[in-house]
Amino acid sequence: MNSLRERVTQIFEDTFREQPKFILRAPGRVNLLGEHVDYNDGFVLPVAIDRAVWIACSPASAPHSSLVAADLDERVSFSSATIPAKTDLEGKPLPHWAKYPVGCAWALNEAGHETPSINAVFTSDVPRGSGLSSSAAVEMGFISALQATAGFEADPMSRAKLGQRAENVYVGVNCGIMDQFASACGKRDHALFLDCRTLEWQAVPLPSDVAIVVADTAVPRSLSDSAYNERRSACEEGARLFGASSLRDVSVAEFQRNKQKLPPLVARRAQHVVEEIQRTEHAVFLLKQGNVKAFGRLMNECHESLRDLYEVSCRELDVMVNIARSFDGCYGARLTGAGFGGCTVNLVAQSEAEQFAKELASRYTEATNKIPSVYICRAEEGAGMV
Ligand code: ADP
Ligand code: MG
Repeated sequence: MNSLRERVTQIFEDTFREQPKFILRAPGRVNLLGEHVDYNDGFVLPVAIDRAVWIACSPASAPHSSLVAADLDERVSFSSATIPAKTDLEGKPLPHWAKYPVGCAWALNEAGHETPSINAVFTSDVPRGSGLSSSAAVEMGFISALQATAGFEADPMSRAKLGQRAENVYVGVNCGIMDQFASACGKRDHALFLDCRTLEWQAVPLPSDVAIVVADTAVPRSLSDSAYNERRSACEEGARLFGASSLRDVSVAEFQRNKQKLPPLVARRAQHVVEEIQRTEHAVFLLKQGNVKAFGRLMNECHESLRDLYEVSCRELDVMVNIARSFDGCYGARLTGAGFGGCTVNLVAQSEAEQFAKELASRYTEATNKIPSVYICRAEEGAGMV
């Protein structure tokens, strides 16, 4: 049996003196391709991974909810009646972690779903703040938990939108839909190809002989709000200068014909986005053909583009990527997520994955004096009851 499942069940029984009625699981995610294009109406290709939040929960007999964050050894009680205030039962401000589950209750209430009070314990093996979307996993876990206890119907994409709204408005973090989408809609052994404009998506099979290896540089992501906002405005300006509503509507050919009309910085940012959108579409075509080598080359191109055009890499990410590419069996390596630290994602022959992970870690430490975490991941199912 899964040890996180056992852990939440045990802590739930010790805390609430009964057996939990529901057990839920919600995965983190890693993005294979389509970086910094979600806010440009582009295509993304994430995978829900086999690292997840586990929740044990039951309807509460009390008029308030009690939540235990087992990993932080913290407990919070709150009443639905006081939402949207961000305070606990005693009127004290909620700790940061509690805003994610309480925000989910808020988003459900706002959408017209009544949420019952619940007792819940949760734990997770998605590293926090590394770019594998531990926050979306918490949200998709709690939306599923509240859905199970309240007994209403909502499809995975609707749950993803509710989670995004909770994070955008209640927690106050400006994220796109990709993370919640991947956690909600994940499919075992498949990548998820999402059109961020229409929210149409399809699951694309991953070859069984490749592993997804995620390497955390141990450099905290420090994409300051200003750097992120600078890139967003550059994209908006680029679209405006092309007379388009977003860069999604600018083809690579059109960009090439007119790029000299853009200020150089805007041209670099826009070039990444325009090419990355095309690259991701092409990569899905290659993946469907099982052409892992060509797919991996596009991952490499994506890294170069993020490094040189979008300028969101850093020394450690480049070092990690360069070491990875020196191994046989590594098809592609690139930074994943917002950048300036965090993780790389690598596509590696399954038979080489263990060795790759071990040597990548030790050679990275030799080069940087930092201790990375390396995870061999597989694509897993999205959030739901187990
Ligand atoms: P990430 O890239 O991992 O999503 P975020 O900063 O968006 O990074 O979200 C991390 C936050 O999510 C944590 O600071 C915490 O508030 C919450 N969180 C994630 N996992 C847990 C957990 N296991 N227990 C409590 N809170 C968690
Ligand atoms: Mg997050």
